[in-house]
Amino acid sequence: MSETEPLQFRDPEQAEQLADRLETLMADIDEPVSLMHVCGSHEQAIAKFGLRSLLPDGLSVRMGPGCPVCVTNMPEVDEAVAIAEQGATVATYGDMFRVPGTKKSLADARADGASVEVVYSASEAVELAAANPEAEVVFFATGFETTAAPTAAILDADPPSNFSVLSAHKYVPPAMEVVAEMPDVDIDGFLAAGHAATITGYGLFEPFVETYELPIVVGGFEPIDVLLAIERLLEYVRDGKAGLENAYPRCVSKAGNEQALETMWDVFEKTSGEWRGIAEIPGANLVLRDAYAEYDARRRFDVEPLDGGPDPLTEQCICGDIMAGKADPDECDLFGEECTPSNPVGACMVSSEGTCKIWDEYGGHPNL
Ligand code: SF4
Ligand code: SF4
Repeated sequence: MSETEPLQFRDPEQAEQLADRLETLMADIDEPVSLMHVCGSHEQAIAKFGLRSLLPDGLSVRMGPGCPVCVTNMPEVDEAVAIAEQGATVATYGDMFRVPGTKKSLADARADGASVEVVYSASEAVELAAANPEAEVVFFATGFETTAAPTAAILDADPPSNFSVLSAHKYVPPAMEVVAEMPDVDIDGFLAAGHAATITGYGLFEPFVETYELPIVVGGFEPIDVLLAIERLLEYVRDGKAGLENAYPRCVSKAGNEQALETMWDVFEKTSGEWRGIAEIPGANLVLRDAYAEYDARRRFDVEPLDGGPDPLTEQCICGDIMAGKADPDECDLFGEECTPSNPVGACMVSSEGTCKIWDEYGGHPNL
């Protein structure tokens, strides 16, 4: 692992130098290269700073299953709606509020009279429970390791008895394995999410690199961070080598935040679960361990899955293909027409980390 120089994170000159370097690397490689990032914040940086316009011909950087809102499955939204309709107050992150379930979103449930509150953190949901002891407050807990760790810390700190958690937390590494194994997805390397790695450490990718013989570089979120990580990935591709590198050393260490991890694994265990539109993924969902059963909303409330499938428009949504790197949003017939941020059909158009929403915001194919 090489140490990186301190960066001027938005220096245009440095960006141009890196773009030239990518050009040279691609000329050496002399065949198309497809990289995948697994983080909505990376897609935002790429779109916001027009980074795709700096990429040489033949190099594509696709978004994988990197938005925790997008991969929250419809039945999980249904569970939250069912709990709200049973009279509890459901506290949720703003991005989840309008994500469609099979029949309704939490926003629809609120419009129909249910109690749904938007919170910015798990601790705000606990404060809501403490301030309303007569109400049952259920935190609809979504997100990857970055938000699972704080949810775990809350449960570890004896929250009020009227507080419980409906966990839809997900764990990214098994999803990367599923994408790497998909026969029609040809990825040459992964740009791993710097935020999540702050918690987990980059060392956890070692087995992946060994098994799949693909390079992984952990990258930050400034434009130079992203270009630098892409440069490192291309070096691996050029050398025909797998390998693991941390291109975000100012935030990420090999071991990660060991205390946060200990609490996270104390509270949660991995289970198999469906990621919206992608697949049933073994070990990629996080559920509460028996020791925390008293705070498990699934055990407190009746949350049987709904009968009947989603409406026909939803069935045309290709979020799953987009998150598996098989399609771009503008290949979806509904993009910008039937599906817009104000009237989203699929989850990718709701979340600020969703590729469809990001592309809509930057005017279609963000190749600026
Ligand atoms: S939670 Fe953080 S690391 Fe994970 S996808 Fe979102 S922005 Fe990226
Ligand atoms: S544009 Fe809408 S319907 Fe199409 S894939 Fe994206 S979220 Fe789904």
